[in-house]
Amino acid sequence: MTSYKENEAWKEASAVEDRNFRPTKANGGRRKAPFYKVLQGMPIAVDAFRYGTIPNVTAYFLTHAHSDHYTNLSANWKSGPIYCSEGTANLIKHMLGVDSKWVHPLPMDTPITIPNTGGVQVTLIEANHCPGSCLFLFEGKQTVNAGDSAYKSPYVGSAKVFRYLHCGDFRASPQHVLHPAIKGKRIDHVYLDTTYLDPKYCFPPQPQVISACAELAKRLAQGRPPDDTQGGKPRTMAGWFTRVDKSDKGKEKAKESDAPGKTLFVVGTYSIGKERIVKAIAKALDTKVYCDSRKAAILRCENDPELDAMLTTDPLAGGVHLVPLGVIASDRLKQYVDRWKGRYSKVIGFRPTGWTYTQPSGSDNLPSIPTVISRSQSRSFNYANLQPMRNSTSTLQVYGVPYSEHSSFFELTCFALSLDWGRMIATVNVGSETSRGKMGKWVERWEAERKKRGGAKIVEHRAEDYW
Ligand SMILES: [Zn+2]
Repeated sequence: MTSYKENEAWKEASAVEDRNFRPTKANGGRRKAPFYKVLQGMPIAVDAFRYGTIPNVTAYFLTHAHSDHYTNLSANWKSGPIYCSEGTANLIKHMLGVDSKWVHPLPMDTPITIPNTGGVQVTLIEANHCPGSCLFLFEGKQTVNAGDSAYKSPYVGSAKVFRYLHCGDFRASPQHVLHPAIKGKRIDHVYLDTTYLDPKYCFPPQPQVISACAELAKRLAQGRPPDDTQGGKPRTMAGWFTRVDKSDKGKEKAKESDAPGKTLFVVGTYSIGKERIVKAIAKALDTKVYCDSRKAAILRCENDPELDAMLTTDPLAGGVHLVPLGVIASDRLKQYVDRWKGRYSKVIGFRPTGWTYTQPSGSDNLPSIPTVISRSQSRSFNYANLQPMRNSTSTLQVYGVPYSEHSSFFELTCFALSLDWGRMIATVNVGSETSRGKMGKWVERWEAERKKRGGAKIVEHRAEDYW
């Protein structure tokens, strides 16, 4: 697609996202699907349920069971077969009541030919997002111009095999580019989760944050001071965390809380996701996990035997409780722990949320790509970087956790440099031309940097599971 055509296609996509849309006879009773929801030249739509029956689409794919990806999917679905991972299949049947006859769970890491798609093969790859989430690698010829876009592909009917990688929502890791289905292959289109495609979003690697939470929980349960430090110097890093209580009052509070006693740990989540933090904390404390029966039923859909083995229906047997994120605020957390009056001398809340870091003024808004990489890799995160939030007391402490299940800007950069791709198509924050323009500039910079490095070569990584 030329850049003119691409721009026109985006304009068309914005027009169909009209907030005031009402189904009428004239518009066929449905929204039109924007071009990036239907694969070029293939009768396949991804995360496109809000558009109903899309012209010529014969296979509907779902990357994961988060509501913004399955909008409009319900028990009334009858537009065609839905392909997804086993975990996602369980979740949409359980939560949305989608009829099993439409739902086709696929195995991970195995190329499967999808019926009625002109021979397109798909491979599911773990996305490193929420349970059940996956990337789809599609390989096949272009056989049809499906969808609503006026822009038609010139390759339909040609012999060329196209390869598209749809990332859904993902947290990019070296394991993605080293996956046997991807490694060394040219990817024609990458549909990228651009949630954090902006250099201000450079948060710590997920495995470090998970270990930090587990270590902190262990220390607090043992009554060891959470901020005893290596070499006498607190390892809090400027720039990593914004809600540090540096006042003397805060230090006093920390001291008072050192006394050992029965401590309840409470982790907040919304919908599915963040289970890894919960498991790591429960494992570190060697305890069970309690949540209400509605949440437990959802967790049991996720096909995670390790988590299933940790769940208990007895709140007093679980040293870790899983609650809605909104409960992790000091007043509501107090109400929550009061239910078990006298049982606990202390409650610790973990509030894993996306990134709340705001760029200090005067900092580098347009760093070079080598700077982005070296700066991110010189930082690390541990339990001492987790600090109680301002209104914490000796018996009730809330920790904000910079935990994201989306790629940081740094990770997107490493992913883009490590992979051989032809075109990157943003799938998030695409509503405004300004935002698309900014993201497009970074895609150009990645392309230029990759060329400078002599083509797609994996960026040196610090661990198997993070750059
Ligand atoms: Zn998601």
